[in-house]
Amino acid sequence: MGSPEPLLIRNARILDSADLVDVHLEGGHVAAIGGVPAGRGKTIDARGGLLTPAFVEPHFHIDKALTFPGLPPATGKGPVEAAVERTRQAKTRFTSEDLRARARQAIELAVGHGVGTLRAHVDVDPINGLRALEVIAELREGCRDLIDIQLVAFPQESIVRDRTALRLLGDALASGADVLGGAPDVEEPRDRARHVELLVELARERDVDLDVHCDYSYDPAQRDLLFLAEKTIEAGLTGRVRAGHCCALDAYDDDVAAEVIAAVLAAGIDICVCPMGNLLLVGDGSPLLGRGVARLKTLLSHGVTVAAGSDNVHDMWFPFGRLDPAEVAMVTAIAARLWTDQAARQAFDMVTVNAAHYVGAPSTGVRVGSVADLVLFSAGNLQDVLRNAPGRRTTIKRGRVVGGSESRVWTV
Ligand SMILES: [Zn+2]
Repeated sequence: MGSPEPLLIRNARILDSADLVDVHLEGGHVAAIGGVPAGRGKTIDARGGLLTPAFVEPHFHIDKALTFPGLPPATGKGPVEAAVERTRQAKTRFTSEDLRARARQAIELAVGHGVGTLRAHVDVDPINGLRALEVIAELREGCRDLIDIQLVAFPQESIVRDRTALRLLGDALASGADVLGGAPDVEEPRDRARHVELLVELARERDVDLDVHCDYSYDPAQRDLLFLAEKTIEAGLTGRVRAGHCCALDAYDDDVAAEVIAAVLAAGIDICVCPMGNLLLVGDGSPLLGRGVARLKTLLSHGVTVAAGSDNVHDMWFPFGRLDPAEVAMVTAIAARLWTDQAARQAFDMVTVNAAHYVGAPSTGVRVGSVADLVLFSAGNLQDVLRNAPGRRTTIKRGRVVGGSESRVWTV
């Protein structure tokens, strides 16, 4: 597709400014802001609606998405064990057609909600090999004018006990995966450190970024994030490693948490919290408070970049969700008890600028010269955006309108 025709958005509200402005997009970039005379191309009247950077979804399991209706019944085990078992059962039934159809539906949801860049974890393991990755890598090509998709090769099964799984991860990097994933929690406790070592070695050898599911449980003794940070620095990968979930951080004593946060900062690790599924999958007897938001306020106050992701949508790990970062931001604010007047902005940053930093995407603020990945809301302020106030949103990708969604008012 060629360069989009110029687009003039009149009467938009932008963050950090009280005035309504006109924003002119040309050549896929923000060309001018201010009193721009109407010229060639299309004009949209924003009517005071908020124009913001596009959402970035930093953590989403696209291959599992929308499997919920066809899942086998949950067993009587704990919620995490049940989800692992149902994942294995569901994956044995995945077909290429089914994967393609569900992933396409998920991409349509994302684009409709204003997501411009999406980092998708895709299982790569001996159950399905590279099939899901190859299907979704092909789909990505067909959607490249709508959304940028990064693929993370994710080992949902052990790479320590089964070296085939490790070899497949390496193969995935040659078959469309951009980032190496990891999940030490899938190993026996004695093997978790080895899992991290294997990942770090492979990331260094292949010169790729690493994005690790880390400390998923609420066990104060689990310190995989600390070990990952130490290994990151040792391997010279500072700034190239990301960690998702990090729930155990919430359970540490303050002095232990301070040690882990110092290591995270030194290693340049951004954190992605995934509160929706994590809040739901609390094991029996675990304390509820704070689980799933990784001591978020402390991380922010220390200057760690924290993003927030959907993780799972309508699947074996999370039956709800609609792949809407506005919803994720609102739930994150509630889970982390962000209650001040700045809360909406802090939460919104976690699904836009912070998430862009997390995935290494260019920051797309409404600034002259920025890539025009934007969302135009009919709502005029962030509180209304986050509480999903009824209204329309319009998704703009590289200066072209590519989607939008309407939320309606129930009337009696
Ligand atoms: Zn995940």
